[in-house]
Amino acid sequence: MFLSIATTHRPATDLGYLLMKHPARVHETEFSFGRATSFFPQAGEERCEAALVLDVDPVALVRGRGESPVEGYVNDRPYAASSFLSVAINRVFRTAMTGTSRDRQALADAAIPLEIEVVPLPAREGPDLVRRLFEPLGWQVSCRSVDDATGEAPYVALRLEGRQRLADALGHLYVLIPVLDEAKHYWVGEDEITKLLEKGGAWLAAHPERELVTRRYLKGRRDLTRSALARLAPEEEAEAEAGPAARPSVEDALEASMRLHDLRLETVTGVLAASGARVVADLGCGEGRLLERLVRDRRFVRLIGLDASVRSLERAARRLRLGQPEGPQADRVSLLHGALTLRDRRWQEAEAVALVEVIEHLDPERLPTLAEVVFGTTRAKTVVVTTPNAEHNVLFTALACGSLRHPDHRFEWTRAEMRSWAAGIEERWGWKAAHSGIGPEQPVHGAPSQMMVFTR
Ligand code: SAH
Repeated sequence: MFLSIATTHRPATDLGYLLMKHPARVHETEFSFGRATSFFPQAGEERCEAALVLDVDPVALVRGRGESPVEGYVNDRPYAASSFLSVAINRVFRTAMTGTSRDRQALADAAIPLEIEVVPLPAREGPDLVRRLFEPLGWQVSCRSVDDATGEAPYVALRLEGRQRLADALGHLYVLIPVLDEAKHYWVGEDEITKLLEKGGAWLAAHPERELVTRRYLKGRRDLTRSALARLAPEEEAEAEAGPAARPSVEDALEASMRLHDLRLETVTGVLAASGARVVADLGCGEGRLLERLVRDRRFVRLIGLDASVRSLERAARRLRLGQPEGPQADRVSLLHGALTLRDRRWQEAEAVALVEVIEHLDPERLPTLAEVVFGTTRAKTVVVTTPNAEHNVLFTALACGSLRHPDHRFEWTRAEMRSWAAGIEERWGWKAAHSGIGPEQPVHGAPSQMMVFTR
């Protein structure tokens, strides 16, 4: 089986830096199931192409299994692109897959023109499914049918063209090749979910075929599929029941009288400006109210909003007038569909991060994952988190005793609870946290809203 990756980005030979392979050399990697050879059929300034050829050894494959190489599900293994190819991609191009590059980081972060070929790719359901899988990811797809040796299963030569980050492109192949192949060569367990979310989480959540991809990647194991899908987009279910944007909540009414949200956004804007950050990610940006303020301040050269709700993002795009002549410059603001509980390289360059009235929308058992993503893995130097102060709720006479301010809130914290959460983050990752209230401070119950500013 054969994979080729070409670019016309100039100088095209930079592909060698991205893949960490010298274009003049042939590289060989041994696997238990065979051998991968990578080399550059073409390495010019204008076009550079890297190829990976995987020879699967049919004897090694069935060793110890008591199967003959031509029997059972292994019969096309040496021939067709399969999960073996994913394993090989992940090993041979490991650094490129993580989106890092020692010598060309800016290029690794950039979308570049790519042409990819995979031959032969199993397409038992015909080329239509191949298109449904790759086109939503921004690829131009062409499939040429390929005669297969057995005459039983249809295969295609797949060609993808598009502007993509190389790491994203490799992630697409890593996940989707086994999905098309279906016969995975190893047992599927819990850690397959981790691999799927790690390599596909950022784009899979928004993929129209995410259910099919998840189910087939996990070999139809229903328990695993359910769990993976829940981790991909649990917020959308919540939104369908009680969308934060769908109807005005008690929260809006309660807080309206004091224009609490404006005050909150003003305070957060002030903290972000003072931090000196030039690139800011607003996680759980909702309808973009914070971004709307930030965009007015030229000191913020890049603003990234991320939310799990497509509807909110659409509203944010309208609010910010994205793509309109009077709106911000095209590359200054990006709105991303994604989940806070997944590592997402699309906002990794952020120097400061805001989470305004967001954490209380997550189930408490998901907070450790959020903390890991936001505090454990980012390069940011400042993180601002706001959340209601539950102690203040008794002062809202319109709020039934013991209830939360918004139907989608999973919890509301006292000041002590917020402090204790922050203390865990200080201890674990060496951040410094400073607590303050937002809104009129009451002697016993504190301010209606609370903010924690984390710095390091
Ligand atoms: N920060 C905005 C919106 C707050 S409402 C503001 O202050 O105006 C909370 C937002 O968090 C919603 O838009 C919801 O879609 C989003 N959200 C909740 N859980 C999320 C998750 N796990 N990943 C991404 N966004 C999430």
